[in-house]
Order: sequence, then C-alpha cells, then structure tokens
Amino acid sequence: MEIEIIKTKPKKVNFFTIIFVCLVLGAIIYGVIRSFQAESKETISKEITNNEVNDDVTEVNTNTIEEQKTSLIKIPIIDEVASEKINNIYKSEIKRAFLTFDDGPSPNVTPLILDVLKENGIKATFFMLGNRVDTYPKIAKRVYEEGHYIGNHGYYHIYSKIYETPQSVLTEYEQCEYAIRTAIEQPEYTSRLFRFPGGLAGGPYAEIKKQATEILKQNNIAHVDWNCLTQDSAGKYTKEQLLQNLKDTAYGKNSIVILMHDAGDKILTYEMLQDAINYLREEGYIFCSFYDIMSFK
Ligand SMILES: [Zn+2]
Repeated sequence: MEIEIIKTKPKKVNFFTIIFVCLVLGAIIYGVIRSFQAESKETISKEITNNEVNDDVTEVNTNTIEEQKTSLIKIPIIDEVASEKINNIYKSEIKRAFLTFDDGPSPNVTPLILDVLKENGIKATFFMLGNRVDTYPKIAKRVYEEGHYIGNHGYYHIYSKIYETPQSVLTEYEQCEYAIRTAIEQPEYTSRLFRFPGGLAGGPYAEIKKQATEILKQNNIAHVDWNCLTQDSAGKYTKEQLLQNLKDTAYGKNSIVILMHDAGDKILTYEMLQDAINYLREEGYIFCSFYDIMSFK
C-alpha cells in the first residue's frame, strides 16, 4: 500500500506540475507574442509618424510656393494711412486724375477702353458689377492682369434690392467680391473698396446708404464717390459734350476722381477717352489708380 501511495503521489504531483509548467510556458509565450506585436505596432507607428513628418515637410514646401505666389499679388488693406488718403481723396498738392469706370465689364466697350489705357500707359480703376463679372470673367481677368484696380459696385445695380436694408449692401459687396475672386483666379483677393450704385449722397435711399457706410467701416471696406464726371450715364450727350462735361466739372480742382462707365451701351465713352486723356495731360494732371491709395499686406 505504501509503495502504491508513494507511486500515486508523484503521479499527482507530476500532473499538477505539468499543468503549472504549461500555464507558465503559456504565459511566457503570450508575453513574448504581445511584446513582439507591440514592437511591430511601434515600428508601424514610427513609420506613420515619419510619413506625417514627410507630409508636413511637403506641406511647408507647398506653402512656401503659395507664399511666393501670393507675395506677387497685391492684397489691399485699409489701415490708417489708406483711410487718411481716402478721406483726402479730393485734396492733393499735385494735380492728379483717377479715371474710374463703373458698371462693367462688357465685351464690346471694356476691351476698347483697356486698349486705349494700355497705349497711353495709364492705370485706371474699374468698379465692377458682380453679375457682369460672372458673365464676362475673362474680361475682368484682363482688367486685373493689365494692372488696373478692381473696385466693387455691388452685384445687381438694382436700387430696391441693394438698398433694401443697410445689411444688404454688405451682402451684395460680398457677392461681388466672390465673383471677382473667381474671375481673376485669386482666392486671396479682396478689393476693400466700394462705390455705391447711384452714389452715396441723396435719393430715396439716403438713410439706408448712410447706415450702410457704418457697416462697411466695421468690415474695413472703404467707399468712394467722384468729384468730376462726363455724364455718360445720361445717354443724351455727344462725345464732344461728354468731354466738355468733364472739363466743366474738373475746373479748378487739383485732385479729380472722374466717373465714367464701361457698360455695353457706353461706346461714346471709349470714343472720347483719348481726347479726355490728351486734355488732362495738357492741363498737367498725372494719372493714378487706387493702387496708389490703398495699403497692402
Ligand atoms: Zn453704377
């Protein structure tokens, strides 16, 4: 019996020992596998991190290129200097003339005006309508690429719409800005310069317009009217009379912002433009655009 007991006991011990050893071995193998997996994950993670770093580097390089491109584009801003210049736009020691064209672009008049300006080496300012920019984006782009300043004249030029509330002036300004940016393919571009359709002063919407000037100011947008005009919008003058209107309204002024139009029915404005330029030169005016007024970032 004793012998049997002695034989049985070791068998029982061996069985539990084997179970124990198996468990220990299992735990060790499990640990090794986990450790290996963790190491693999870490390696993959490091690779991903490296890729991200590489992506960052690529992004930085792209940004640098974008910055270089952007630095070639003049992005107007309104700072104290620009505000001061706009507030004193009709005052100047030297004789200067700003040629401004509203209500374009149009396919039959704007390109002819651009040709005259190019031949004379003059930079002008075009207050464009958003809906016409959307219709003739290539002409808007040509205006920009030839170095003229593009200002904002709202989207529709329908008084009851743009002057419905002071806020709707800003809404149309934004719509027009979007059209300009899209047309000239410069997502960063902003004009920061508005001309009220029909002018700021007077009319049935005078109070709305006055309130809108505050909203524009809060949004760092300047606005400008004119102090000289050909009256080409009246549609009743010959080109000789248009020039005479310009002479009459320029008389005695050192700094003139001349209102003209490049809408499709303003062919006479093109036809009188060279004579107007000749006259202004003879009178000693130099030509400026709003690139000479705004500040830039
Ligand atoms: Zn207009």
